[in-house]
Amino acid sequence: MNVIDLIIYITIAISGTVFGSFFTLAVHRIPKHQDITHERSYCPKCNHKLQFLDLIPVFSYIFLVGKCRYCKEKIRPRYLILELCSGLFFFLLAFHRGLNFFSRVEDWVFFCLAILFAVCMFITAGIDKELHAINDGVMVYGSVIGVLKLIALVVFDKNINYHVLAFSIIVAIWALVKIISLKKQNSEETNKFKYPLKLLRYLSLIGLFFGAIPTAFGLVWLIPFVLGFYALNKKVGEEFVMPVAFLMTIVYSLVLLIL
Ligand SMILES: [Zn+2]
Repeated sequence: MNVIDLIIYITIAISGTVFGSFFTLAVHRIPKHQDITHERSYCPKCNHKLQFLDLIPVFSYIFLVGKCRYCKEKIRPRYLILELCSGLFFFLLAFHRGLNFFSRVEDWVFFCLAILFAVCMFITAGIDKELHAINDGVMVYGSVIGVLKLIALVVFDKNINYHVLAFSIIVAIWALVKIISLKKQNSEETNKFKYPLKLLRYLSLIGLFFGAIPTAFGLVWLIPFVLGFYALNKKVGEEFVMPVAFLMTIVYSLVLLIL
């Protein structure tokens, strides 16, 4: 690996950690309908607005020894772990694709689309894990990326299986119509189906981005994840919620890495 490629990979990994800190912020703010791009982050304990230096991923955590600079409240190491994982994910995604300075434009385009879709999947996972809900706004964002990928496939003259395309779009539209009609009724009965229907919509989005065969593979992989999660987290006498979208994100992130 030469110096230019090394710089490229370091830049990609650092952007990964920046996205990582953005994910945690987005997961907290999107369900509350708060602004995610303009308003500064603040400490959840003392509400002090964070300065530029506090916002540098990973390093700020290390320099502040895991404490808020203003109220000395401990920052959960979860944030650091998420940032590091996200940086590693970006790096592996680029590394597996063998990206370098001389890569073709289309390789860079598909890499960027993969990153943008991963953003949709990670935020969906976070919100599902915290609130057992799937956010409509994030789904709309994901659909836009899915459509952009289809456009890129056509532009770069890739082999598109039009049946897969048609199927994904039909499922997506079906789920969309269902959700719109659900919003209007909003009765107890329809609320029960809200989460499964939204899961279906998330799956159709994944189908749109990945195509039929990787999506099917992912579904098979999902089974041991669901069973494992159940075995690890089910406690006797407690009501159990299965964060399916969270587990789907883990599985399809792996698919994205090996694709
Ligand atoms: Zn604080």
